[in-house]
Amino acid sequence: MSRFLDERFAALDPYVPGEQPQDRSYVKLNTNESPFPPSPAVIAALGKEEAEKLNLYSDPTADVLVEAIAEHFTRVLQARGAKGMDKEQVFVGNGSDEVLSFIFQAFCGKDKGMAFPEVGYGFYPVFCEVLGIAANPVPVRDDLSVDVDALANVSENIVIANPNAQTGIYLPVSDIKKLLCANKNRLVVVDEAYCDFGAESVVGLLDEFDNLIVVQTMSKSRQLAGGRVGFALASPEIVRDLNMMKYSFNPYNLNRLSILAGAAAIGDEEYFASTTAAVAKERERLKGELTELGFSVTPSLANFVLAGYPSIGGKELYLALKKEGVLVRFLSDAKLAPYVRITVGSAEQTAALIAAIKKVFKEKGI
Ligand SMILES: *Cc1c(COP(=O)(O)O)cnc(C)c1O
Repeated sequence: MSRFLDERFAALDPYVPGEQPQDRSYVKLNTNESPFPPSPAVIAALGKEEAEKLNLYSDPTADVLVEAIAEHFTRVLQARGAKGMDKEQVFVGNGSDEVLSFIFQAFCGKDKGMAFPEVGYGFYPVFCEVLGIAANPVPVRDDLSVDVDALANVSENIVIANPNAQTGIYLPVSDIKKLLCANKNRLVVVDEAYCDFGAESVVGLLDEFDNLIVVQTMSKSRQLAGGRVGFALASPEIVRDLNMMKYSFNPYNLNRLSILAGAAAIGDEEYFASTTAAVAKERERLKGELTELGFSVTPSLANFVLAGYPSIGGKELYLALKKEGVLVRFLSDAKLAPYVRITVGSAEQTAALIAAIKKVFKEKGI
């Protein structure tokens, strides 16, 4: 720490991203990326033409991207008989982490805290700490599922990942509705980073509830983790507030290449459908293989599973698998210590993982 750091941040405990090793190649199952490359439409959109314009600022409204997102959700909603989505309901950011940070900054403050399940996305308590927002981590049940009634009773705004981070456990739309109805004067932020692998989004509730913000990312289900594209869907008033925050920090928050990549990715419905279906299918196969080996596995609907083995701790298993060239995620929260989080990869990656687990078990006499 330099002697210049403001004392407010002296004890700050920042978010720790999963390892992104650049030295050797691992079977990388630790940060929930897609095992597929970006859609061919994304590659085609990133031609020389746009690279040659990098001397010029990007469009601060990211209009091409905002329009493509609104069109996608209009298709989704109209297929269900709803009215569709306006561009005014879409806010885009440099990854959903940035979108979430603007939400925390805009709608929380000294007297307005944020509540979230104690097991969930690790960034929520960090945002609270760095922004001086009172955090209310609500205990989860023994099986790590969210206690919806306890969460509905809090007095703060609410943020929840659904399916939940780390466990993949999904709350049905009716439960989110309960949170929205319990107090219409607070915001409910539903972080749907993992909703595209078999869960149902709550976008359909936006017409009914003006206290709902849906946050999604192109990092997990649209092959753009390195492209950094996230977005929020909400009432036009909320989107205006978020844009006010953005124009007060970083008006050109999306670069030229990410704007085009994101628009192309969300426009390719077929690639999205086939890749997310393949991941969901592989997830069920992976659950089966792990269960057969004696692991307990959470009922995840996400692109990862949380798995624990009775006689080996999460950290020990993570380190042993790393030695075998397989990276999984160990999470140090007390309640998650018995587990490792494993991203759903390709069939080949699953095979490598299972072989590595068997080798580790043999060496440890399990
Ligand atoms: C991965 C993830 C994010 C962040 O996604 P980016 O768009 O890559 O910033 C946000 N929330 C949850 C729950 C996530 O798992």
